[in-house]
Amino acid sequence: MHYLSEQDRQHLMMRPTECLDQGSSIEDKIKLAQDLYTSWGDALRKQSHINKLLADLERCLRVSRQSMLEFKIIEICKRCDEEEGGSCCGAGMENKIDIFLLLMNLLLGGSLAEHHLRTGSCYLLGDSGCVLKVRLVLCVDFLCDKILTVLKAEELLSLQKISGEELVTGFRLYDAIKKFLRQA
Ligand code: SF4
Ligand code: SF4
Repeated sequence: MHYLSEQDRQHLMMRPTECLDQGSSIEDKIKLAQDLYTSWGDALRKQSHINKLLADLERCLRVSRQSMLEFKIIEICKRCDEEEGGSCCGAGMENKIDIFLLLMNLLLGGSLAEHHLRTGSCYLLGDSGCVLKVRLVLCVDFLCDKILTVLKAEELLSLQKISGEELVTGFRLYDAIKKFLRQA
């Protein structure tokens, strides 16, 4: 089950990435994102449109987290991971992450994994869940059957709206950062 319409998902997934990091290991991407943050973090924050998008995204992430707590999704995922061995954060998911997403996390005051904490799982999965504040579209835009069976229709609708705002705001920021760095 996905939050976004098929058309929106295709649009968001198919954006050109012009990756600086194609084929790089997650360790190399994290190092590159940290170097970019050191060199450009202040300049990026000084751009008023980027600063505003950072604040907007922070708010969206707060609302998302609150709704996931309220609808018990965090509790269900914790139990799934710790007791049922079913976490969907599989090994290799980190290969879909690029340096701009990592840089966004640093700009939002997040920290990145210093080593692979749980072999057999995504590199970014820590003992208390994902270490990222801003996650992949795939990670935000997914609800498994375990969750779908406990959500009421109105909760599902509310989540779709909240997650959609998080994803769209995240993409606006992602594109603004890329544009700034391309011109810098
Ligand atoms: S989304 Fe579903 S499969 Fe993934 S951790 Fe949560 S309950 Fe488990
Ligand atoms: S939610 Fe985080 S840990 Fe899980 S697959 Fe996505 S990036 Fe990896």
